[in-house]
Amino acid sequence: MEKNGRYIGVVTGLTHEGMGVTRAEGIAVFVPAVCVGDEIEFQVVKLLKNYAYGRLVRLITPSKDRVAAECPVFPKCGGCVTRTLSYEAEAAAKCKNTEENFKKLGGLDLQAEEMLTHRPDRYRNKAIYPVAKEGEKLVAGFYAQRSHRVIPVSDCLLQPENFAPLLEKILAFGSQNGWKPFDRETGKGDIRHIFIRAGFATDQRLVTLITASLDLPGVEILAKELMNFDPGVVGVVLCENRRKDNVLLGEKLVTVAGKGVLEDRLCGLTFSLSPRSFYQVNPVMAEKLYKKAKEFLVPKKEELLLDLYCGAGTIGLSMAEDYGRVIGVEIISEAIQNAKENAARNGIENAEFFCMDASVAAKRLEESGLRPDAVVLDPPRKGCDTTCLDAVLAMAPQKIAMISCNSATAARDAAYLSERGYRITRFAVADLFPRTAHCECVLCLER
Ligand code: SAH
Repeated sequence: MEKNGRYIGVVTGLTHEGMGVTRAEGIAVFVPAVCVGDEIEFQVVKLLKNYAYGRLVRLITPSKDRVAAECPVFPKCGGCVTRTLSYEAEAAAKCKNTEENFKKLGGLDLQAEEMLTHRPDRYRNKAIYPVAKEGEKLVAGFYAQRSHRVIPVSDCLLQPENFAPLLEKILAFGSQNGWKPFDRETGKGDIRHIFIRAGFATDQRLVTLITASLDLPGVEILAKELMNFDPGVVGVVLCENRRKDNVLLGEKLVTVAGKGVLEDRLCGLTFSLSPRSFYQVNPVMAEKLYKKAKEFLVPKKEELLLDLYCGAGTIGLSMAEDYGRVIGVEIISEAIQNAKENAARNGIENAEFFCMDASVAAKRLEESGLRPDAVVLDPPRKGCDTTCLDAVLAMAPQKIAMISCNSATAARDAAYLSERGYRITRFAVADLFPRTAHCECVLCLER
């Protein structure tokens, strides 16, 4: 195989980043923006020892699963990767990839008992748009694949329709008032991201402007205008972030107008959410996922549940009426504050929450003699560490529900537990992120 050479191949699979996999001259080649089943001509753009990256030159025979992308900025925008694949084929490919990860990275032979899905468009309740400048005008959208170049998008097909008019209003106001996009290299400028989160069940929206300085010209006027323009906007918040790395949210929040939290209803409960609190972006699917975890755990009234990485308490609180006692642990203080308020406002009296690193807390709770009957592990993408898993093992709960947005680390962690006395008894995949390469999985491990 030669760099820049042109070859023909059939796309047989999808990588975990959503690229098509094809082969030529015995080498696997990854090509973006193609579909499983396409026969393609591609050009090799990067040649490595055992694999290569290619660029689509010509679609020779389209896959039977090909559909129109429908989005004017696909595939320039890096948000979606599977827009030209039918949603059924996408869901099947992601379920297969998840199973393969458990096999390859955990040595675990699992078959998902179910692939939970919902609609593939307008499912997100949250968008964080990076801001850039085009001529004299501010623009916002999403980053191009593996880059910090902003591809302007106003109405993204994954977001609710009422985000675009808000975004346009903010950008027009910012352009008129001389806002400058923040430049991470020079540390100059102010506006970084426009963060809009919605409660679908409450029809509320909270606008958070992520800026390098809390002194954003005219922001009080804008906040009033936004709340008049869209009565669903319950508040406008400034979030100060002067960091030069990729962390999106800063620690300092100031409510400019209205409320500093958003409310939504999930699993029959009302939740308050600070901009800094994690909340699943696909609430319809989150409810299905949490219900599945509960079905796996089969809670009993006399049992104790430990909910590690609990965020604003959504999982533990949605199961609290079926358990005797619930303890939640989470590292973000605003989320723990929300979790406590969420327990109170829903009349839940058997739940306690601690702001702490999950591993430190699990170890301390174990040492203090806590013996939960069930543990929920819902870590971020990097998964759990062995301190956390060892503490859970020492607590010896009857059941562990593992929920993860990264099947690679979930496979590693599930393998660790299954080599130390736990058996995987249930396993399902849930597509919370249609049109992207990501999805969630949920497992039940029993002693
Ligand atoms: N279970 C919640 C949140 C899951 S996301 C829900 O379903 O809504 C993962 C959560 O882990 C986030 O809230 C994140 O803030 C938290 N987190 C990340 N690192 C952590 C750590 N070391 N200890 C405790 N919580 C952590």
